Amino acid sequence: MITFIGSLNMDISTRVHHLPALGETVLGGEATIGLGGKGVNQAVAAALLLQPNEPPVRLIASLGSDSFGNTAREQLSQYHLNLEQLHCSPRPTGIALISVDSNAQNHIVVAPGANADLEPQHVSPENLHNSRLVCISLEIPKATWQKAIRSARQIGAMVVVNASPLDKVTPEDLCGTDVLVVNQIEAIQLSGLANLTDLDLAKHLQKIAPKVVVTLGARGAVWVGDNEGYAPAYTIQALDTTGAGDTFCGALCVELAQGANLGSAVQTANVAGAICATRHGTVAAMPTRAEVNLVLLRNLESSSQESKF
Ligand code: ADP
Repeated sequence: MITFIGSLNMDISTRVHHLPALGETVLGGEATIGLGGKGVNQAVAAALLLQPNEPPVRLIASLGSDSFGNTAREQLSQYHLNLEQLHCSPRPTGIALISVDSNAQNHIVVAPGANADLEPQHVSPENLHNSRLVCISLEIPKATWQKAIRSARQIGAMVVVNASPLDKVTPEDLCGTDVLVVNQIEAIQLSGLANLTDLDLAKHLQKIAPKVVVTLGARGAVWVGDNEGYAPAYTIQALDTTGAGDTFCGALCVELAQGANLGSAVQTANVAGAICATRHGTVAAMPTRAEVNLVLLRNLESSSQESKF
């Protein structure tokens, strides 16, 4: 089983012509309300890539006992997820306010609410039983994600940490991670080094974890581990990149849990992330296994050097 530990939000998104400057009000399009939060996004991205006969993806997260909490639970139940460890908090369900402009750039404000009540006791080794891989993201209390890393190690699961957001996080805090996944900004922040090549940046982060993946947005991703490499992104017309990083991470975890090597897992994750970026929304934009396989197959058949779909 794959377990994701992280935040749960309801995303309230709107499209705007341009992102507001300080003090400016801009009129947006119609608002959409949907599932979000790094834990939810990554778990759903993974669940969409599993076959129905495979064990469901476990999500450990916290929601409020308000109407958004009920909506979140109802929407989550439509996916191949194990929700036995969704915790209910007296605080309001987390909310993310998202604006996306016509260049697919975004502004995001998160009100964590119930996510602050995901506690270390919710991520004990017993809570993680049967996990082959545990993926942890950091939009939850620090004591909780640190305990989650320790518990996952204790049960012998592969420990994947998506070190985001990096609020007062030091490299030492991430001790026990097997696979570190960060975007380029986070990689620079964690290493404290701005002038390295992408690959050297990833190598530098091996002082934190033996395997490192640095995502590079429209440029793809680099990885270091048993071997190392650069996987260019798939050429697409990006509409909305919200959730592309989480989709990448969810797909990476499925591939790793199924025994793929890091390089091949990154290639598949690149496809999933790119497809997500071609559509509006977060969870609504995530691809199914059939969609990912179709792109992989087309690229295998194509004699072109360039990766596209
Ligand atoms: P984050 O959203 O966490 O900052 P990135 O922007 O690095 O993460 O994107 C994560 C992954 O999503 C990339 O490594 C790539 O696979 C895919 N992706 C994101 N933006 C694009 C894009 N414009 N074109 C193709 N793939 C993209």
